[in-house]
Amino acid sequence: MQLQPVNVGHKALADYATIASRGVMDQIRTLAEALQGKRVLHLSATAFGGGVAEILYTLVPLMRDAGLETEWQVINGQDEFFDVTKSIHNALQGADVTLTDEQKKIFHGYNRANAEALDGAWDFVIVHDPQPAAILDGGRPGGGRWIWRCHIDLSAPSRDVIDFLAPSLARYDAAVFHRREYVPAGTPLPRAYIWPPAIDPLAPKNMALSPEDAAYIVDQFGIDVERPLITQVSRFDPWKDPLGVIEAWRIVREEHPGLQLALVGSMAHDDPEGWDYYNRTVEAAAGDPDVYILSNLNNVGSVEVNAFQVHSAAVLQKSIREGFGLTVTEALWKGRPVVAGNVGGIVDQVTHGETGWLVGSVEECARAVSEVLAEPDIARAMAKAGKEHVRSRFLTPRLLRDWLALFNVLDGRETDAGSALAAVGAAG
Ligand code: UDP
Repeated sequence: MQLQPVNVGHKALADYATIASRGVMDQIRTLAEALQGKRVLHLSATAFGGGVAEILYTLVPLMRDAGLETEWQVINGQDEFFDVTKSIHNALQGADVTLTDEQKKIFHGYNRANAEALDGAWDFVIVHDPQPAAILDGGRPGGGRWIWRCHIDLSAPSRDVIDFLAPSLARYDAAVFHRREYVPAGTPLPRAYIWPPAIDPLAPKNMALSPEDAAYIVDQFGIDVERPLITQVSRFDPWKDPLGVIEAWRIVREEHPGLQLALVGSMAHDDPEGWDYYNRTVEAAAGDPDVYILSNLNNVGSVEVNAFQVHSAAVLQKSIREGFGLTVTEALWKGRPVVAGNVGGIVDQVTHGETGWLVGSVEECARAVSEVLAEPDIARAMAKAGKEHVRSRFLTPRLLRDWLALFNVLDGRETDAGSALAAVGAAG
C-alpha cells in the first residue's frame, strides 16, 4: 500500500514579509537559490492532531513557494503499531516502559512495510518523530540525505527504548532537536542540530480575530461570555495533565465562583490512548456545567481553537513533560496571559514573571490563575512581552530559514545562516 500524500494547499512567502523580520526574508531568498527544484519529502505518522501536523501544513507549502519540490506523506499503520509507538513515545519522555519482543517486532514490521511502500527519488527526506524512525533499517533508498526531526523531549529517556532505537537513528545524516538538552547523552547519533519549531501567524488558528468575533464563536459552544473563562488546548494525554487543570480550576473557583474552564483536545489517529484519557477527564469534571470538554468531534477546528485562546482570561498548558508546546506559542502570539508547566520547551517561551507564569504543581497553577484574574493589567503587559518574544523567535519564516540553511550545509555549501545553526556532537 502506498504512503498517503497530504494535500496542504497553497501559501505565499510574500504574505509573511510584513510580519517576519526583513533579515529572515532575505536569508530565505539567498539560501533557496542553490536549492531550486530540490525534491524534499516529509514523512510523519499523522496528518491530524498534534504539533507535527500543525507545523507541516505551513512549512510544506512555504518550502514549495521557496522553489523546492516538497511533499508530505503519512506512513501506514494500524492500532497495534500506534499502541507500540505510543509506548515508545512515553518511554522516550521518561516513563518506565520496556518493550516486549512482540512490540519490537510490530515496530520493525510496520517500518519495513512503509520503507517498501516509499517511492520516488528525493534529495532530502525529513522523518518526523519516532514512529517512522526505523525506515532506513533495510537500507537507504536512493542517494538523498536523510534527517530525523525529533519533536519530543529525549533528555531522560528510558535507556532500554533509546538503546532499541539508536541503531536506526545512527543511519541518518543529521538529526534535529528543539533544544540542546534533548539530545540524548551516551547514544551514538548523527550530528544534531538545534532549533525550535514555529507557528504560522497567518493560519486560521493564529490569524487576528477580534474579541467580538472570538466571543461570538465561543458563545456557540455554550460558554457564558459575560463570565471569565480559562482554557487548555491539548491532546487528552497524561503528560498534558488535564486532570491537574480541573483540580486547579476547582481551587480558583472558590474565590471566583463564575469561572469557567474549557478543555479543548483533538483526537489524533495515532493516539489510541487518547480515548481512555478523554474518558478519565470527563469523569474528573463530574458533570460540572462550567467545565466544557470539547474536541474536533464537537466541530472544534482551527478557528474555534483560535477563538477559545483569544477569549480566555488565561490560557493554561499545565504539562508535566512538553517537547515544545506550540499551544503556548499560539497563546502568547495572541497576547493572552499564559500559565504553563515549568518544563521542556515551555521554558524557552515563558519567563516567569516577565512573559507569563511557570508552575510546577496544581496549587501553583491555581495561584497563578488567581493572580491573572486579580491583576488583569499586569497580566496583559506580560502577555504583550510574550508576543514580541514569539515574533522574534517562533514564527514560521524562521523555521523555513533553518531548514534551508541545513540543506545547504548537508550539500556542503557554506552560508552565514548555515554556520549559525547550533550543532551538537558526533559523526556529521
Ligand atoms: N490542537 C488543536 N486542537 C486540539 C488540540 C490541539 O488544534 O483540540 C493543536 C494545538 O493548537 C497545537 C497542536 O495541536 O497547534 C499541539 O501542539 P503542541 O506542541 O502543543 O503539543 P503536541 O500535541 O505536539 O504534544
